[in-house]
Amino acid sequence: MNECIFCKIASGEIPTNYVYSDENVVAFNDLNPQAPVHVLVIPRQHYASSAAVDDPSVWSSLLDSAVKVARSLGLEEKGYRMVINTGEQGGQSVPHLHLHLLAGRNLGWPPG
Ligand code: AMP
Repeated sequence: MNECIFCKIASGEIPTNYVYSDENVVAFNDLNPQAPVHVLVIPRQHYASSAAVDDPSVWSSLLDSAVKVARSLGLEEKGYRMVINTGEQGGQSVPHLHLHLLAGRNLGWPPG
């Protein structure tokens, strides 16, 4: 966990411009954006994936924060997508729970 890059972002060890932060969550722009808006929302506490979450309050803070970020960016009218990749087949590459907030273009469905 000491080597977890998202833990370092959440703790401030890696300086990052947060789009949003509170006591439970930080949000920041994705390094490799897949849409004009691509924000990652992560819990400060380390969970390797959605499958590791054992406390329902993690979901309320993560989702509530994501909606707050969407509102602050004015995304409600045109819409947005929230995605949580989990595990190998889910396409997860960073083993710290994170929610992708994507917007700013028409997003295809189904995902690849
Ligand atoms: P996932 O594939 O769902 O695990 O998503 C991981 C996301 O983290 C990818 O979209 C990466 O571009 C993004 N990412 C990895 N490292 C960083 C970083 N240091 N800062 C911002 N985004 C990152």
